[in-house]
Amino acid sequence: MRMIVPIKQVPETGAVKMDEETGTMIREGVEAIVNPLDLYGLELAFRLRERAGDGDDAVEVVTLSMGPPKAEKAVREAVAMGCDRGVLISDRAFAGSDTWATSCVLAAAVRRLAPFDLVICGERATDGDTGQVGPGVAAFLDLPVVTYVSKLRELGGGRAVVERLTETGREVLEVALPAVLTVVKEIGEPRLPTLRGKQRARQAEVPTWTPAELGVDAGQVGLKGSPTRVVKIHKPTVARECEKLTAADEESAAAAVERIVAFLKDRQLL
Ligand SMILES: Cc1cc2nc3c(=O)[nH]c(=O)nc-3n(C[C@H](O)[C@H](O)[C@H](O)COP(=O)(O)OP(=O)(O)OC[C@H]3O[C@@H](n4cnc5c(N)ncnc54)[C@H](O)[C@@H]3O)c2cc1C
Repeated sequence: MRMIVPIKQVPETGAVKMDEETGTMIREGVEAIVNPLDLYGLELAFRLRERAGDGDDAVEVVTLSMGPPKAEKAVREAVAMGCDRGVLISDRAFAGSDTWATSCVLAAAVRRLAPFDLVICGERATDGDTGQVGPGVAAFLDLPVVTYVSKLRELGGGRAVVERLTETGREVLEVALPAVLTVVKEIGEPRLPTLRGKQRARQAEVPTWTPAELGVDAGQVGLKGSPTRVVKIHKPTVARECEKLTAADEESAAAAVERIVAFLKDRQLL
């Protein structure tokens, strides 16, 4: 069996800076890490490999990352954690890809790794934060997708039984393989890389795939292939009006209560 885990390199800080002129993210000068939510996808794949053992159903875990050349570090980190191999998808033509173009490229890379059983994505990336790429990859591959997966109950015989979180509880679904899953934190605490893993990662060969190798047209990717545009970005301003009420003695406390009651009534909160 083969599990493919796409991971994204994201800025370490939660405070993503945007260039207000161009509407793009400013990535320079910011420490980059593996998207923390993707570590849960890796963890699920490792657990499935352990569960399967070394027999006929042995699992291979392959990671993929699309990004600039420095995203190779993210791929090596995933190998250090336990991936059998990793691939970097990188080319200038990919720059500026929106979620549509990103999904198209990742789907082409997944296709190149066929046959596979599961594509396991994170719930969302901490910078772009759309949560669209997992379902997007599934759509380009014409595969079923289950989002917010919190548990994989059964795997085998061409199907998986999973639990997914909903706003009101949990759903148990059966899905035919191959399929795409996006996972949430409940799937299991991610492991740390081992010393042996780090050594292996340093020596690992990380191939770089370009549009030509993926068979995608340069017009399908990057800014050219991105149907969405950031038209305007701005920081929301929070304007608060404060009124200080003094309640130093009985009289002023009673006046303060009266004022609060009137305030709440004005807004039909009482
Ligand atoms: C309208 C719009 C315009 C944009 N324009 C630009 C731009 O001009 N320049 C720019 O740099 N960015 C731009 N972005 C951001 C960029 O498109 C997204 O960061 C990227 O498409 C991934 O989407 P996301 O971060 O929302 O990932 P999500 O959909 O939140 O990620 C879900 C999961 O998909 C997988 N995944 C996502 N991205 C990758 C990846 N690159 N490699 C491997 N796995 C991945 C991971 O498993 C991740 O957990 C734009 C986004 C939008 C919505």
